[in-house]
Amino acid sequence: MKHLLLLTCCAPCSPYVIRKLADEYCLTVFFYNPNIHPQQEYKLRLGEICRLCKNLDVKLIEGRYDPERFFELVGPLADTGEGGERCSVCFRMRIEEAFRVAKKIGAEVVATTLTVSPHKKAAQVNAVGRNVAQGEEIAFLEADFKKKDGYRISCELAKEYDFYRQNYCGCTYSKAESERRSDSHKTHRRG
Ligand code: SF4
Repeated sequence: MKHLLLLTCCAPCSPYVIRKLADEYCLTVFFYNPNIHPQQEYKLRLGEICRLCKNLDVKLIEGRYDPERFFELVGPLADTGEGGERCSVCFRMRIEEAFRVAKKIGAEVVATTLTVSPHKKAAQVNAVGRNVAQGEEIAFLEADFKKKDGYRISCELAKEYDFYRQNYCGCTYSKAESERRSDSHKTHRRG
């Protein structure tokens, strides 16, 4: 069985993908998400993935929480919005780190849970993964895990585990955008 390093974005997106891949690969889960803001939220999401990996008896590696790196790379693109260039750079930062760790631990394949979310375009995530994998001996597993009922099953499993479920992607920009959406929704309902 090949060793696969699974870059996870959060617990709710993970159990379906872990179950799906565990038949074919020997899995290690990798949590590297310095994009998450604030740190309290990071700790909350990390706590939930620890709980899941313990429950499923899967090894978990925590990457460095280095938000300075995120702001340095993604900050200049903040205004490009969710799904735009800032997300491609954010995906790249996390997938590149997954490749570094995969090399270190001898994993042969890297995959990510990022495509479970209906807010993430698989083509965008896979293009970044393909690009990072170029010239590497490690493969990137292209997928769209939301398909074939993947998102629905993930939601059901997240309910079963009673996971904390965030209402924004992770970074301070997505948090502000989500707050603005919710304020405008309230205004429209009042108006
Ligand atoms: S919206 Fe999500 S994927 Fe995009 S930059 Fe923010 S944390 Fe990263």
